[in-house]
Amino acid sequence: MMPTKKSSIWHPFTQHALRDEMTRVVRGDGAYLHTGDGRRIIDAISSWWVVTHGHCHPHIVSAIQEQASKLNQIIFAGYTHDPAEEVAAQLMKLAPRGLDHVFFSDSGSASVEVALKMALGYWHNIGKQRIRIVVMQHSYHGDTVGAMSVGARGVFNAAYGPLLFDVTAIPFPARGREQATLDALEAACRNEIPAAFIVEPLILGVGGMLMYPAWVLGEMKRICEASDVLFIADEVMTGWGRTGTLFACEQANVIPDIACYSKGLTGGALPLAVTLCRADIFDAHYSKDRTRTFFHSSSYTANPVACAAAKASLDLWQNQESRQRVASVAAMQEHAIDPFRADPRFANVRRTGTITALDLETSDPGYLANIGPKLQAFLEGRNLLLRPLGNTIYVMPPYCVTAADLDQIYAGIRDAADALA
Ligand code: PLP
Repeated sequence: MMPTKKSSIWHPFTQHALRDEMTRVVRGDGAYLHTGDGRRIIDAISSWWVVTHGHCHPHIVSAIQEQASKLNQIIFAGYTHDPAEEVAAQLMKLAPRGLDHVFFSDSGSASVEVALKMALGYWHNIGKQRIRIVVMQHSYHGDTVGAMSVGARGVFNAAYGPLLFDVTAIPFPARGREQATLDALEAACRNEIPAAFIVEPLILGVGGMLMYPAWVLGEMKRICEASDVLFIADEVMTGWGRTGTLFACEQANVIPDIACYSKGLTGGALPLAVTLCRADIFDAHYSKDRTRTFFHSSSYTANPVACAAAKASLDLWQNQESRQRVASVAAMQEHAIDPFRADPRFANVRRTGTITALDLETSDPGYLANIGPKLQAFLEGRNLLLRPLGNTIYVMPPYCVTAADLDQIYAGIRDAADALA
């Protein structure tokens, strides 16, 4: 018999039979979290990749406080408000040129659902029957049904298989196998006449921090463009400086037809997401004929307080200092990870921008192997918040992290290998 849970909360991606004791966090500041039992933990993964400028950044906190006392919720169908208008205006300056319209939602998964519905709605409204989606092997786009359908099939969604729609998957462009990926995409575009191709640019996150070069991203866009297939960039993880540029697509000069941003959009303070699209995708829904309306919303679409947080975070991106922080975190990460390249206990030591990853050599690899939770527990014992993907350990810190914090993080990883490899 399992022991009775102490709390009634059912936590996400958590096997309660193996971990029922949750770490209670009472405060966050900068790169640190403070626990109820008086410990200070370094947040080496930006609390599921969302915290960019640091926990409780004063500029974002005061924007939230100010907005919360003015207007904290308003139906967004038929009504608008300054924080949303300001976020949209700033996105028009920061996002790739040519993405002219902004649709708000409240999570990365929702932004992907919106992207898929925009793509299918576009083809439907211009009188063409295109419904198939092309995806990349090992991808993750979220946990709602549409987002799961375009993500990798496996343990995460085995129980829900019958609910998921069929897609065409092309292989991940592993080193030396890039042409096979491009050939597969070209064949899928030619043979299936798909509605869209959706991809995580430069890094597949949940799939194992798998990195591929910018030129492949550029070629994939070229192939889609030549076949009139919509190119959806899921920058939910890669956006907001993670790959070294504000958006990963910049590194290949790619202007997606549809782009999804979330996670760091509010600096990690409140849930919010956006899906941006080309003018003609909006135009295909623009008609006096009401059947062409984009039928999508959620009750909290463009919540004013979340938008105020996003506006404050976008303000910070307007100044050079945030971009310099990204460059300096990328350089510090390279310096910190480099010695691991010669360490035989690790394979595939890699970095793109501010994200590093390395695979601990183990006889028991894979996402569900026991090594992941063991590593996490060991590292938490060192007051480090990391959450390895199986035997893949990655570091994705807030941009206020210091060289001393990184030293502590990598010393913890080295000690974990000593203890557990
Ligand atoms: N897309 C990508 C690339 C992601 O990494 C994630 C989350 O990790 C999502 C979508 C889903 O975002 P959310 O967890 O906010 O629904």
